[in-house]
Amino acid sequence: MNLPNVNARVAVIGAGTMGIGIAQVAASAGHQVQLFDIAASAAQQALNALGQRLRQRVTAGKADAANTEALLARIQPVDALSQLADSELVIEAVAEKLPIKQSLFRDLEALCSPATLFASNTSSLSITAIAGALQHPQRLAGLHFFNPAPLMKLVEIVSGLDTSAETVATMQTLTQQWGKQSVLCRSTPGFIVNRVARPFYAETLRALEEHVADAATLDSVMRDAGGFAMGPLQLTDMIGQDINYAVTESVFQAFFQDPRFTPSLVQQELVAAGRLGRKSGHGFYRYGDHPQPTANYLPASTAALPRSISLHGDPAGMTLLDDLLTGNAVTIKQPGQTSAFARLDEVTFMLTNGKTASQVADETGTPVVLFDLSANYSQASTVAISCAAQNDARHNATVVRLLQSLGKKVIQLPDYPGLLVMRTLAMLANEALDVVNKGVASAADTDHAMCCGVNYPRGPLEWGTALGWQQILTTLENLQHYYGEPRYRPMPLLRHYASLSSGAQ
Ligand code: NAD
Repeated sequence: MNLPNVNARVAVIGAGTMGIGIAQVAASAGHQVQLFDIAASAAQQALNALGQRLRQRVTAGKADAANTEALLARIQPVDALSQLADSELVIEAVAEKLPIKQSLFRDLEALCSPATLFASNTSSLSITAIAGALQHPQRLAGLHFFNPAPLMKLVEIVSGLDTSAETVATMQTLTQQWGKQSVLCRSTPGFIVNRVARPFYAETLRALEEHVADAATLDSVMRDAGGFAMGPLQLTDMIGQDINYAVTESVFQAFFQDPRFTPSLVQQELVAAGRLGRKSGHGFYRYGDHPQPTANYLPASTAALPRSISLHGDPAGMTLLDDLLTGNAVTIKQPGQTSAFARLDEVTFMLTNGKTASQVADETGTPVVLFDLSANYSQASTVAISCAAQNDARHNATVVRLLQSLGKKVIQLPDYPGLLVMRTLAMLANEALDVVNKGVASAADTDHAMCCGVNYPRGPLEWGTALGWQQILTTLENLQHYYGEPRYRPMPLLRHYASLSSGAQ
């Protein structure tokens, strides 16, 4: 048996978007790859299209001609399943239907050697269920590539109940040789990425539904203030509203309609109207010749800078405030309190904790301006704030002036609890903790999957640890109280971590 050696013969079944991409990955690592599709000549057509794309890169001076031709020569389209009998690894990327995948693997098991390994690229079906069709289910695992497979580094290696440790180890070595970064997870709905990422979209979709701001402003809060590479609405336009909605719907159903995964009506409406995003020319944004809308930034404030700035509270929170207020003379007073805030003259200025600014103003008896979370306050071009209804306009203007003097653009959201980035991170970290708690994946693999697979600026668990689990817990508890919905319920591991961190203080 040659696996995981490059001499191993690989077969890819299904020559659609994913199949041809996976064939390219295996062939560029040096494997001979047979490509089969049930639709007559689909495999040949997919190879022709790949050849055209790769040769254009050669013409543009971006790829070597000899390497490209050698790679293409290693992919052989075949027109019958029986020609795959000698394969040592078979990866299927056929239609996302359980009976189709089961019947395919049943046929393959009858055809191939008992040592052949099987992999499914399914994004939503149970690996245990697919392997249930086999006499020897231990040799099947999920190899979940992301689209486009040749470019996306992450592969989730998914174990069903019966997948053997040897099968997983071979797939790990193989994907590493293919230049991929793999993470291990158990077969549960959405695996790691498609599950943990749900709140990234859901919280911004909710804010849009609640008329907090327009699409461009919400995207700017997440991207330019929060530090995510793209805004969620912009990203769903790129992925395709239909695809993103279908993943949410499937995870929601798979978790017995758990409210934390409830799909969005506004997204459902876009799908119903055929506004699928970039591919249809119109989603949340219009494409083609249409100018892109810009976020609503506050105009330059002419107010005076605050006369006095002081920081109060716990050291972790102060670092955050310090980061945000870099460049200003700040005097740190009264360390040791449980939450951190700055006093800008008489205004309390603090990171949102899931309460509205008006609630906090009621509690403190001071004017209150809340700011949103950022992965990196010094690099962020933008800061999002919300102001208590009780404030005078001059209170808000002073804070805006200070932030603008630090070179930041300022977005003022309505008095929205948890603003946008903080509530999103709280939900991402909460979900990531549930993944770890249920033994779906390790903490390191969960964070790595989110950074490598969807380009998050920080892993949700590392970010939550840095921020303090108590802050995440408080934010979710306040949101749960505000909405009266189980959507924001804190997971058991979050309560545990928060109790450990508060006990350590
Ligand atoms: P696709 O529709 O582009 O291609 C599927 C191909 O499989 C088609 O060419 C079809 O003719 C062929 N096919 C269907 N039944 C077959 C059978 N019984 N035997 C051989 N060929 C058969 O689909 P896709 O987007 O490439 O998705 C394929 C798989 O990859 C699905 O399981 C999907 O969930 C998963 N996936 C897709 C993406 C994505 O972004 N498109 C990402 C990750 C995983």
